Amino acid sequence: MRTAHPRKLFVTTALPYANGAFHIGHIMEYIQADIWVRFQRMQGNEVHFVGADDAHGAPIMIAAEKAGVTPQEFVANIAAGRKQYLDGFHIAFDNWHSTDGPENHELSRDIYRRLRDAGLITTKTIEQFYDPVKNMFLPDRYIKGECPKCGTKDQYGDACENCSAVYAPTDLKNPYSTLTGATPVMKSSEHFFFKLSDPKCTEFLRAWALDPHRLQPEVANKAREWLDGEEGLGDWDISRDAPYFGIEIPDAPGKYFYVWLDAPIGYLASLKNYFDKTGRDFSAFLADPSSEQYHFIGKDITYFHTLFWPAVLQFSGLKTPNNVFVHGFITVSGEKMSKSRGTGISPLRYLDIGMNPEWLRYYIAAKLNAKVEDVDFNPDDFVLRVNSDLIGKYVNIASRAAGFITKRFGGQLSDAVSGDAAMSWKLRFAEQEAAIRDAYEAREYGKAIRQIMALADEVNQYVDTKKPWELAKNPANDQELQDVCSNLLRSFYCLTIFLAPILPALARKVSTLFRMERDLTWADLQSSPTAIGTFEHLMQRVDPKMLDALFEAPAAAVTHPHPGLPLEGEGEDGGAIEALAPEIKIDDFTKIDLRIAKIVHCEHVEGSDKLLRLTLDVGEGRTRNVFSGIKSAYQPEELVGKLTVLVANLAPRKMKFGVSEGMVLAASAADEKTNPGIYILNPWPGAEPGMRIR
Ligand SMILES: [Zn+2]
Repeated sequence: MRTAHPRKLFVTTALPYANGAFHIGHIMEYIQADIWVRFQRMQGNEVHFVGADDAHGAPIMIAAEKAGVTPQEFVANIAAGRKQYLDGFHIAFDNWHSTDGPENHELSRDIYRRLRDAGLITTKTIEQFYDPVKNMFLPDRYIKGECPKCGTKDQYGDACENCSAVYAPTDLKNPYSTLTGATPVMKSSEHFFFKLSDPKCTEFLRAWALDPHRLQPEVANKAREWLDGEEGLGDWDISRDAPYFGIEIPDAPGKYFYVWLDAPIGYLASLKNYFDKTGRDFSAFLADPSSEQYHFIGKDITYFHTLFWPAVLQFSGLKTPNNVFVHGFITVSGEKMSKSRGTGISPLRYLDIGMNPEWLRYYIAAKLNAKVEDVDFNPDDFVLRVNSDLIGKYVNIASRAAGFITKRFGGQLSDAVSGDAAMSWKLRFAEQEAAIRDAYEAREYGKAIRQIMALADEVNQYVDTKKPWELAKNPANDQELQDVCSNLLRSFYCLTIFLAPILPALARKVSTLFRMERDLTWADLQSSPTAIGTFEHLMQRVDPKMLDALFEAPAAAVTHPHPGLPLEGEGEDGGAIEALAPEIKIDDFTKIDLRIAKIVHCEHVEGSDKLLRLTLDVGEGRTRNVFSGIKSAYQPEELVGKLTVLVANLAPRKMKFGVSEGMVLAASAADEKTNPGIYILNPWPGAEPGMRIR
């Protein structure tokens, strides 16, 4: 055990853009980093784990304006919602800050001055679209027009959704500003650039990024492609013109740092803010050659973190990252999460319906390795891994042994080792300890779990051989019963230490069971508990119904399962209402057959806390069975006899409780927090069942 010289680690996760709530992709990254951090702490290392909101940029400025608040207020609102997620999933950041904090303003300006002094800042005049009504330069995402190839209307300035052509915003025909509808004009402006093309930058990055002991192989390959590309590395435009929500560039009135310049500096700003609050020395930590710096990020921001960020740090005379750990995306049943398709898991919904956060931590850990691979959330696999592995193989060891020790032996574990079992386990745990430790260190959590569960399998074979419930039938076997159960509990104790980085709350309960009342450390493997306190149930199994509830739409309305949760980079602007769906033609609308339906019967659905079962008359000479997620808003008797609107040609959907033959329409707010209500549609008097809505 390397406890003699504790390492000093500074660990971050990517800064989430402060225009929306966390989505499941954020939570996956935080879980990955949190497990590593907890593992390092268990080794006795000093870890500073910080995050922050990425607060600047045009999208936030515009969203705040729409919402009628200042950008600062807008960001503060988003920040106020972070804690419930972090606490909910046991993510133990030491500090959560904002890139709009004073530390970041100061550090960003200071770093810029140093880069300028190093001769790495240059200016160029560039031409860009400008909105003459709004008086601002337009980021590409705020320009639309006709595709230059196929003429499809309302295409963004980078690619056509119809023919997939790729082009520049200036290639669009009849361009317009999505902010005002005005025709943008070309206008020139002086921009500041970081000279990544400078030979000293390239030389440094070759050494840093291609060091065989640093980046993951696939990340290093990507970096090599960028470094060896025909055009080499391009200079990086780091300025934006006012109006902009950001940090003003020194000696350049009206010019602001592009949000991507100050965002990663926010890592340092959050550390400084935390050190200032806790009386530590920020400069000394950065200057200490033995301190280590690690960034966990998603694969979409690799370029920024493996080229720009190390170069910015190097040439402003600061410590460069020891490593950048890149992960893939999370998919759900094999589909990439996408707002438009509505595949995804709402982390708050997960918590709200009472699912245990440690099930998700365990499941994600079991699927994670050190590669840049996507992680798939598959509901059936989730239930299997939690119930069969986590509960069946591990948690159950304690429930099988603790009761006998408490009731029959006053909570005392015996000293005796019955047969070879205890001795052999002690050896097996000692044998496996280094491999498990190495797997955690290398972020090979899936491998660590496989090794831990293989040990759990051996323990379970021992249970099956010894059958403590049989031994308990004859008092003559008391000594053997106590020995067997003691062996089981000591094994459970070791397994818990191995799993503690993944299951911190459960490990804490186990620590209480062994009367330790503190967080377990890796060094606790060396000690052996002698008694237990009262055994309390440690963890429930997953009820597969919960997975139905997790994916079930909150209302029967035409809405996706996680409304109001923008995905990174998808351009959600956080206005007062949910963003409009893409424009459709009348033909698209007529594909949807909406009919007046009479609710002839309505009842609760046993086993569902969301659904009502509706029996509907749509004038077809038969009734239809439709499940609707409106239980929270209506009593069945309120609805019987009422008219409503049914999507009548929707493909029947097989649900846990039967087949749903259509969907009734209801309204709900984008964000359940602002208005949790569900409002079913009801036509004016005179409408009759079967009438079409057109
Ligand atoms: Zn096109």
